[in-house]
Amino acid sequence: MIKIENLYKKFNDLEVLKGINLEIKKGEVIVIIGPSGTGKSTLLRCLNYLESPDSGIIEIGNMKIDTENVTKHEISALRRNSSMVFQTYNLFKNKTALENITESLITVKKINKQKAEKIGLNILDQIGLSDKKDNYPSQLSGGQKQRIGIGRAMAVNPEVILFDEPTSSLDPELVGEVLDVIKALAEKNMTMLIVTHEMGFAKEAADRVIFMDEGKIIEETEADVIFDSPQNERTKRFLNKVL
Ligand code: ATP
Ligand code: MG
Repeated sequence: MIKIENLYKKFNDLEVLKGINLEIKKGEVIVIIGPSGTGKSTLLRCLNYLESPDSGIIEIGNMKIDTENVTKHEISALRRNSSMVFQTYNLFKNKTALENITESLITVKKINKQKAEKIGLNILDQIGLSDKKDNYPSQLSGGQKQRIGIGRAMAVNPEVILFDEPTSSLDPELVGEVLDVIKALAEKNMTMLIVTHEMGFAKEAADRVIFMDEGKIIEETEADVIFDSPQNERTKRFLNKVL
């Protein structure tokens, strides 16, 4: 379970998150939509502590932290509960597909290499890339790179995977293979928080859709409802532009 209470984040004078409250049940798939510059990435980055929130409570799995009064030890424990998938993959260029997946198992989870490889090979099989295990990122297509990015996030068996526009850097014909991997994870009850502009995917795969604007959650409801009959004027305007 994930619970976010009153999360605030400023960059200098710019208030980016203005009191985010959100609860996510285990196995839920939440899609976040909203205009550019609204704080969607900042929210995900705060949950993974790539940015430090100014205040608020974050609870992920067995970790609950008060962001105003947090230790380094708590931050690393919280981080171990979530994995992030980035728009631009962020793979290690000098490591193979398999090594990219096993890296954090070995360095963070302290699992021995042999065992880590076994887990890695199993994940490669799940994401359909067993035959690419020895390829370096430069020898993979964009869609394949992103599937490795997802495989790496899956490897540590996190409470939640945070996706920040996972298909935005891809050529249109490669988007489907990445969305298929995410859908397969949803079927396995992985809890996921996904920022995306893929509205068709959101409608199909999300349990709930959240519309964020100007640092706040404006509307939050089932995917069908938000797309067919958005309640809030700002949501309506946004959807009219993107649908
Ligand atoms: P997009 O849809 O374009 O990705 P977003 O909703 O993800 O937008 P964020 O990246 O969270 O938006 O940015 C929210 C605001 O915070 C923007 O005004 C951005 O310029 C600002 N911002 C983000 N990161 C930083 C930073 N490290 N330092 C200063 N300002 C930042
Ligand atoms: Mg963003």
